[in-house]
Amino acid sequence: MKILLVEDEQKIADFVEKGLKEHGFTVDVARDGNEGFYLATSHSYDVIVLDIMLPGKDGLSILKSLRQKNNTVPVIAATARGELDERLEGLNLGADDYLTKPFYIDELVARIHALHRRTTGSQLSLKQVDDLVINLSTREATRGEKEIELTSREFNLLEYLMRSPGRVYTRTQILEHVWGYDFDPSTNIVDVCIRRLRKKIDEDASPLIETVRGVGYRMKKL
Ligand code: CA
Repeated sequence: MKILLVEDEQKIADFVEKGLKEHGFTVDVARDGNEGFYLATSHSYDVIVLDIMLPGKDGLSILKSLRQKNNTVPVIAATARGELDERLEGLNLGADDYLTKPFYIDELVARIHALHRRTTGSQLSLKQVDDLVINLSTREATRGEKEIELTSREFNLLEYLMRSPGRVYTRTQILEHVWGYDFDPSTNIVDVCIRRLRKKIDEDASPLIETVRGVGYRMKKL
């Protein structure tokens, strides 16, 4: 899952970014409101964790502008203790959830998962294509009876492809979603990771990851 973290306090931003990455998320960080709004409107995220008090465009204005543009990306607003009015206003403006700072990473992770389930309408944390099954909460993957050991990056790539079997994802989309927006687009890191993934899931069974020449990759639609 790809998260945009908008947070101006360096210490908090570093701590949350590190914590989310340890839980397997891809994280882009914006350090002020203008960059946050730019990233939120030019890239796609599964969840935005939005600080309210920000230099540049503040959190509530970002939220308001996003919703005015009919951008429905799930937003968790982060407010400092005592900013109850902001919190209520945030919910009015279309925040999906809020967290009071300081918060535990585990709490944030639980909220992100809950929000993602709620907004995608899926109650299950399992995704399946043919006999390939991944569990989003335990981050385990199996093909048939066989358990597959995946790195965090491989898991995220696989989960992304499995969101919509048959849909082609370009290398740029994959790069942005799984690695983050600041990666060099000329890198062949996506192809390398696909190759490793194929070795693990497709070698002893009928291949599920398809190459669409000149475009990108897709998960086979059965
Ligand atoms: Ca702040």
